[in-house]
Amino acid sequence: MNRFSDVELAGLPCRIVDLPAVAGPRLARLPWLHRVLLENLLRCARDGDAARDEVSRWLDGAPGDAEIPFHPGRVLMHDTTCGPALVDLAACRSAFAEAGGDPASLNPVLRVDVSTDHSLAVDVFGRADAPARNMEAEFRRNGERYRFMKWAANTMANLHVHPPGTGIMHTINLERLARVVTTELREGVRWAVPDTLIGTDSHTPMINGIGVLAWGVGGLEAESVMLGMPVTMRIPEVVGVRLTGRLPDGVLATDLALRVTQLLRTIALSGRFVEFFGPGVSSLSAGERAVVANMAPEYGSSSGFFPIDGTTLAYLAATGRAADHVALVEAYARRTGLWFDPEAEPTYAETLELDLGSIEVCLAGPRRPQDLVRAREVRASLAPLRRPDCVPAAAPDAVPDAAVAIAAITSCTNTSDPRLLVAAGLLARKARRLGLKAKPWVKTSMAPGSPAAQRYLQRAGLLEDLEALGFGIVGYGCTTCIGNSGALTPSVQEAMETRGVLPVAILSGNRNFPGRVHPQIEAAFLASPPLTVAYALAGDVDRDILTDPLATTPDGRPVRLAELWPGGAEIDAAMAGAVRAQDFAPAYDAAEASPAWAGLDAPDTALFPWDAASTYIRRPPFAAIDAESRLGRYSATPLLVVGDDVTTDHISPAGAVPATGAAARYLIERGEDPADLNVFSARRGNWEAMVRGLFTNRSVKNLLQPAIPPGSTCHHPSGEVMPLWRAAERYRAEGRPVVIVAGDRYGMGSSRDWAAKGAALLGCRAVLASSFERIHRSNLVNMGILPLCLPPGMAPRDLALQVSDAIVIDARAERLTPRCGIPVIVRWSDGTDVSFTATAAVETRLEA
Ligand code: SF4
Repeated sequence: MNRFSDVELAGLPCRIVDLPAVAGPRLARLPWLHRVLLENLLRCARDGDAARDEVSRWLDGAPGDAEIPFHPGRVLMHDTTCGPALVDLAACRSAFAEAGGDPASLNPVLRVDVSTDHSLAVDVFGRADAPARNMEAEFRRNGERYRFMKWAANTMANLHVHPPGTGIMHTINLERLARVVTTELREGVRWAVPDTLIGTDSHTPMINGIGVLAWGVGGLEAESVMLGMPVTMRIPEVVGVRLTGRLPDGVLATDLALRVTQLLRTIALSGRFVEFFGPGVSSLSAGERAVVANMAPEYGSSSGFFPIDGTTLAYLAATGRAADHVALVEAYARRTGLWFDPEAEPTYAETLELDLGSIEVCLAGPRRPQDLVRAREVRASLAPLRRPDCVPAAAPDAVPDAAVAIAAITSCTNTSDPRLLVAAGLLARKARRLGLKAKPWVKTSMAPGSPAAQRYLQRAGLLEDLEALGFGIVGYGCTTCIGNSGALTPSVQEAMETRGVLPVAILSGNRNFPGRVHPQIEAAFLASPPLTVAYALAGDVDRDILTDPLATTPDGRPVRLAELWPGGAEIDAAMAGAVRAQDFAPAYDAAEASPAWAGLDAPDTALFPWDAASTYIRRPPFAAIDAESRLGRYSATPLLVVGDDVTTDHISPAGAVPATGAAARYLIERGEDPADLNVFSARRGNWEAMVRGLFTNRSVKNLLQPAIPPGSTCHHPSGEVMPLWRAAERYRAEGRPVVIVAGDRYGMGSSRDWAAKGAALLGCRAVLASSFERIHRSNLVNMGILPLCLPPGMAPRDLALQVSDAIVIDARAERLTPRCGIPVIVRWSDGTDVSFTATAAVETRLEA
C-alpha cells in the first residue's frame, strides 16, 4: 500500500498521506472524521503496528474492536485544568530532581495552549468600568496561581499561556489558533496534515464546526499526551445526522443546537462520534455550525463534526487568516478526500434526519440542557420547583415569583458567532428606542468569547444599545457559564429570603444543572443572546415570551417580542458593515499584551519553589512515584451512594467557595479573607481545599442516609456523621477500603479531572455505577480507580445499601482486560448477600 505522495498544494510542495490512493473507491463510504483518523493512523503508526493491519478491515466497513493510537497535533487547556496538570508536572520535576534527574528535561513535547478564562467573575456589571474592576479582582484573587502559570510558561518548552482578557479558549481556538490544515517539518520534509487536537474541556469539539477533529479529554489523559503518549481508542462508531432544508427566518443557531441536543439524547451516544452531513449543512454558516458542535457533550457525544467546505474557507478568510493559507486548506482537502460533498452518503453506524425548516425559537431547562421547552411551556416547567408558600409581589415594581435573577450573554457556545451578538444588539437597539429597560432586579451581563466582539459591536453602534440595557461587556471569559456569576442583586436575595420567590437564570450557555450557574439558582434556561435580553426586559419567566407582552413603553403601550426581534436580512446588513477580518489579529494582540500579566513577577527556575503556606498551590500527594495499585480482591465499605445524573459539578464544584463549610474553615484558618474566598476552580492547585468541597452540592443526596448534610456520610461502626473527607481519613487509618456507588450517567458534564482526583483522595478503589460519562470514566481509570458498570437493570437503590454493609470486589490486576466481567458480592449486615458480575468500564488494553 503506497501511503504517501509528494504533491504540490496551492504552489507548496508537500508530502501527504494519500487517502484516495490507499482507499480507492472505499473512501467515499467513510465518514469524514474517520478519514481524518485514518490519515493520522497511516502517518503516525510504524510499520508492523498491529493497528495498521486493521486498515483494510476498517476500509471494508468492519473495524471490529481494534484499538488505534491517535496522535493529536496540539493540546488546549484552560487555567483551571492546566493548573492541576502543571502542578503535577512541577511535582514530577521535583520528584525527578530528588531522584537525581534533570528537572529541566521534563517538558510538553506538543504545542500546548492555555487560556486564562475560567476564573473571571461578574462582580461588577452594568457600568462602564465593569471590565476593569472585574479584571482587577481577577488578578487580586488569582495572582499566585497566575504567577505559577507564568513560571510554567517561562520554564517549559512548547507551553503558551494566553493571559486573562484574551477570551474564551474555544473562541480563541476558532478565531486564532486553528489552522484546519497545517504543515510540519519532519526530517527535512514538509508535510501537509489535518490540524487535530485534544482539549481538557468537554466543549473542545466546538472546533469541529470548521472541520478540525478534536474532542475533550480529562486532564490526566492530556498530561500523558503532552508527554508524547498517543490517545488510545477503539475506532469509534459514527452517527450521521442528515440535515435538510434551511433555518426559518428569525430562528438562530442556539435554537438549532438545543433541538439537536434534544434529538441526539434520544439515542445512545456514549463512546460514539457524531457527524453532520447532507444538503442542509451548506445552508449553515461556520459560526452556526460551531454553536451546534459546541454542545456535543450535552448531546452525549465526543464530537459534532462538520467537514471542510467553501463555508469553512470563507470563515477562515473572514477571521483574518492569510489567503495563501486558505488556498492550502482548500487544495489539501480536495486532494485528500476531506472536502465535503452535500450529496454524498457515507456509511454511518446510525443515521438521524433533521429538517432545519422545522426548528423553532426555543429554550432548554430548567435543569438539563436536553430538556427543550417552547416559550409557552416555560411557566409550567417550573411548577415542581416553586415554593407553595411564596408570597406574591404586592407592588408592580416588587420582585415577582420566577423572577429573572440573572440574564447573561455568556459562554463560548453563543458568543463566538458574531451573528448572535449582533442579533442581541439589534433587539437592544429597538427596545432602547421604545424606552424599555431591564427590570432593576435582573443581574445583566455580557462576556464575549472574543476580544474582537467589542470592535464589531462598537462599529455597528450596537454596543451602546446593549450597554443602555445593562448588557455592557463585563470581561472576556467564562463568567456566568462556569458559575462565576457573582452575587445576586440585593432585591432578589431579599425576595428569596422573605417571600420564597424562585429565582431563575436565563443564559446563552450550554449547561443549567442546579447550582451550576449560581449556588442559589436551581432553575436556569438556556437561550439565544437576543432572547436573553428579552427576558431581562420582562423580568420574569411567567409568560409566553413569544406572544404575551413582555414590557410596556413609558407611555403605557404593551410591547411584544415580534416588535423587537431582528430578521435575518437585518442581521446580515448589520454584520456586513461591522465585522471586519482585519479586526481579529489586532484585537488578540492587544489582549495578549496585558500589562497586568507582564507585571506579574514569576520565577524562572527549573524547579518550582513550593510554598508550604500557600492556599493555592500545594505539592500533591498523587504525583508520588510509589503509589500503590487500587486493584485486587477486597471487601469495601460504601462511602457514598448516589442516584442518577450526578455531574462532575456535583462531585467537585467549580463555583464560589461557600462562606460556611469545611473548605471555607480550612482557608480562613490559614488567613484568607472570609469575604473573598474565590472559586473552587481557582483552588484546584490545593488538594486540601478541594477535598473539603467534594459532593457538597445541595442536590446530591447520600442514599446511605438521605437526611444527613450533603458531602457527608455516617462512619461505621461509630455511627458518627462526618464530612466525607474526614470519614475517608478514618477508614484509611483503619485499613478499610471504600467505594462509591452511583446511578446512570455518573460524571456527566465538565471534563473536570478533579472529580476523579477527589475520589482518589477519598481513597476509593472502585466506583460502581449504572453507567458512566466518557471523560469521567477515563479520568477515574487514569487515577487508578476502577469504574465498574452494574448489571443492566440494577440501580443503586435496588441494593438498599447501608454503611454497615460490605461490597466484595474481585478485581485482581491479572484478570483485568477491556470490558471483562468482575465478580461482586454485596454482603448485607443482616447476613444475606447477592452476587453479580459487574463490567469493568476499561476500554483499551493500555487502560487495563
Ligand atoms: S462552556 Fe462555558 S465554562 Fe466551558 S469553556 Fe465555554 S464558556 Fe467556558
